[in-house]
This record gives sequence, C-alpha cells and structure tokens, in this order.
Amino acid sequence: NATRRLHPEDTVVDVSGVKIGGGHFAMIAGPCSVESREQIIDIAKQVKASGATILRGGAFKPRSSPYSFQGMGADGIELLLEAKKETGLPIVSEIMDISQLPLFEDVDMLQIGARNMQNFTLLKEVGKLDKPVLLKRGLSATYEEWLMAAEYIMSEGNHQVVLCERGIRTFETKTRNTLDITAIPMMHELTHLPVIIDPSHAAGMSRMVHPLSLAATGAGADGLIIEVHNNPAKALCDGPQALTPDAFDEVTRDVTALRNAL
Ligand code: PEP
Ligand code: MN
Repeated sequence: NATRRLHPEDTVVDVSGVKIGGGHFAMIAGPCSVESREQIIDIAKQVKASGATILRGGAFKPRSSPYSFQGMGADGIELLLEAKKETGLPIVSEIMDISQLPLFEDVDMLQIGARNMQNFTLLKEVGKLDKPVLLKRGLSATYEEWLMAAEYIMSEGNHQVVLCERGIRTFETKTRNTLDITAIPMMHELTHLPVIIDPSHAAGMSRMVHPLSLAATGAGADGLIIEVHNNPAKALCDGPQALTPDAFDEVTRDVTALRNAL
C-alpha cells in the first residue's frame, strides 16, 4: 500500500478472526438499527455475499430525540446473534452504558458512539475487557481528544482499539457532517491504531457513500463501516444515508479494485 508507511508496531485488531490494521482492510456493513429477524438476516446474507467481513447493527440507539425509535435493545442483540450464527460474520454493536454489558457477551466488537467518545467511565470499563472496541470520533473532537479517549481504554489494559472517523460538525449544513479525510494520514502518523471511515454518518446521504469510500481507501484507511438497508425508504433510523445491498455491492467492487491498484 503506497499511500502510507506501515510501521512494524502497527496494532492489528482481531475481531473473532477478522483482522483490522497493519495492511488488513475491514469491510463492515449492516443497518443502522436492527428492526426485525427478517431484516437483519436478509441484510447480513446480502452484505456477506458482496464481501463484507463484519456485520454492524444497532440495538441501543443514541437518538437526538427521545421520541424517535430507540432501538430494539436486548431483542436486537439476540437477532444480531442469530444473524451471526446464520452467516458466520462477526458482529459489532453500540454499547451506551456499562449496565448493558451482560447482553454483549457474545458480541464480537463493542462500538463506542460519537456521543460517548468522552464518557470516561464507559471508556475505562470497556478498557477492562478482552474485547475489541470501535471508537468513533466525537462530533467536535480534536485529534488529541480522540487519542486521549483511546488512551482511556488502553490504559486499563485493552489495546484492541480501532478508531473511526465518522464526520465532524462544521459550518456546513448541506451535509450531515463533514468527512475529515485528513484524519487518516494524521492518525496514522500519530498512532499505531487502525483507522477506519464511516462515510454514511459523515455525509448523511446515500449517494455520497461511494465517492467518500473511494477517497478513504485512497487515503489509506484500514477499513470502512457502511450502513446498508434492504428497504432504505422504510428504515426506522438513518434511511436517507443507507445503501441498498446492490449499491453496497458496487462500493465493495470499486473499493477492492482501487486497493488492488494502489
Ligand atoms: C451509528 O453507528 O449508527 C451511530 C449512531 O454512529 P455515530 O455514533 O457515529 O453517530
Ligand atoms: Mn446510524
């Protein structure tokens, strides 16, 4: 990979056999939220067929409004585990509070959402676990604050941390957030941790996911996490940014072609 220098000390995070970092590229895909058995299993099978290596799905959702769908909770985790069993894909899901931990025992990777990036109590608790953590960048967090959040996890002993840039808040209102591509080479310079990109939450619109995925790949990202829904128009959360399985298939194809060309 000519776009970045690989350091011998790069951290390689192992998510139940799927490696991220140090030259290993992860393709994480799935719906914003688990909505039903049919929905999650259908999406899981389709993204796997396109080359996804890890399945995502929210069960506990940090919604801006308390009146919006809050996720299926424990039932959502159960359905994710069923999709894992059905497809063999490891799963990643957001944990919002450490009291939810018993439900996550068989979840392969814990997601710390952007809104909880500086929930230091939660960071310290997941730092005591032997489980990979996907740490999203806070909505207006500096690189230094983001790195220190990762330190909170690692200082407790858990070094299996993957950083995720998911767009930051800027003066721009046309897009949901602004994807900070610079975060990829900058974090690779500052840290040994893998850096992946979430183009879905960055732009907030499905048609931007393909170009942003290629940009991230070109800049040396260690992976992508992309929202995919089998019926985006009816999604209970983040429908406008969700790719159809067919559109996701195109993204994986072009990302793979670009990686092979680098
Ligand atoms: C999500 O992944 O669905 C999510 C809520 O992400 P973020 O924390 O980046 O907003
Ligand atoms: Mn979402």
